[in-house]
Amino acid sequence: MQDFDELLNIDKNSIWHPYSAMSSDLPVYHVASADGVRLKLSDGQELIDGMSSWWSVIHGYNHPDMNLALERQLKDMAHVMFGGLTHTPAIELTKKLITITPDALKAVFYSDSGSVAVEVAMKMAIQYWHAKGELKRQRFISLRSGYHGDTLGAMSVCDPETGMHSLFSSVLPEQIFIEQPQCRFNEPCTDNDIAGLKKVLAEHGGDCAALIMEPIVQGAGGMWFYSADYVKQARKLCDDYNVLLIFDEIATGFGRTGKLFACEHADVVPDIMCVGKALTGGYLSLAATLTTQDIHVTIDSGDPGIFMHGPTFMANPLACRAALTSIHLLLETNWQENISRIQYSLEQGLAPCRQLSQVHDVRVLGGIGVVELKEAVDMKTIVPKFVTAGVWIRPFGKMVYVMPPYIISNDDLSTLTSAMVAVIAEC
Ligand code: PMP
Repeated sequence: MQDFDELLNIDKNSIWHPYSAMSSDLPVYHVASADGVRLKLSDGQELIDGMSSWWSVIHGYNHPDMNLALERQLKDMAHVMFGGLTHTPAIELTKKLITITPDALKAVFYSDSGSVAVEVAMKMAIQYWHAKGELKRQRFISLRSGYHGDTLGAMSVCDPETGMHSLFSSVLPEQIFIEQPQCRFNEPCTDNDIAGLKKVLAEHGGDCAALIMEPIVQGAGGMWFYSADYVKQARKLCDDYNVLLIFDEIATGFGRTGKLFACEHADVVPDIMCVGKALTGGYLSLAATLTTQDIHVTIDSGDPGIFMHGPTFMANPLACRAALTSIHLLLETNWQENISRIQYSLEQGLAPCRQLSQVHDVRVLGGIGVVELKEAVDMKTIVPKFVTAGVWIRPFGKMVYVMPPYIISNDDLSTLTSAMVAVIAEC
């Protein structure tokens, strides 16, 4: 058995972690196991997880029902190719997804990550217009401060500054950006708020395949909650200018914002919708891109008569089984009550942050609590302070935020928020 120092040395010298440099002196913690809402580090310390492993682990770690379903599925098959073959987990999951997402969404394409689900959504939009003979419609409209993934197509619709578009300028398609909506959640959307979108649609609508947006909550690009009315008006404008609407619900899907899907806050149905992250309860990597009957029939009957995508691990049976079990667990529990309870605790627990001079804004929506600071945090000092306080919270930029597993207890929530207040006060 290797000792942990040796393992960590290999990690430091040979593995890239997300958005990091190998030689960096940022600490990386070695997790031995995880159970419920607790991450167990190899040195014996336990941390309350505030991140749900980036929005995904909604039922907590090591869930007995999830484990059992996967053990059973393993005995049937872990994987089988999806070209020319099919299987019950994919079919049952499709039936379930079509039932729980907005009515108009009737066709599903499976992929292995959120970024690829976004690539697939963009390709669907382009192929749809191509099949209709509208070959010019190849560009996308996107919101500033949005985040849609790290592959090149997905990156092209991420915020151009935080996505470092200048670095990749020769390979990234140039998209059209509009300002982040300033109207907050629960506020109306004024003419001024929607003017930017109206203007680009009037000027470039005929060249655009789709508008892509994270409805209600912009996640990794800024943790910003905006008006449902803006989403409604965006739908109407897309209809007026004949541009498709893509919703990226990869972070917001499966209850996180208090609705099963964030688009329900606005009662708006997109033409294409991406889901991922919490789809499998955080057990395995799986994403799906859903679309309407019209789009799927148009693509399939156009030239070349097929949809041009097909990943090796498409609709992996283990991942589909995990997704089915996770959705079942979600729907059979009173998840809305859990999210309201978490929202209330986050609002109460984070309120003292409003008094701190280093804090710019505190906002809570559903199971998401955000403290936006005036200055970017120093990751080298803040993360170890959270670990010392017994919690796992990983800020970025000016955002210190949590979105815990839905099963978290009130006591653990209170430990999370107290740690946030105490550590931010020391910043
Ligand atoms: N879209 C959104 C809204 C996301 O939050 C993310 C991941 N943070 C992605 C797309 C990309 O997903 P993945 O990391 O699984 O590729």
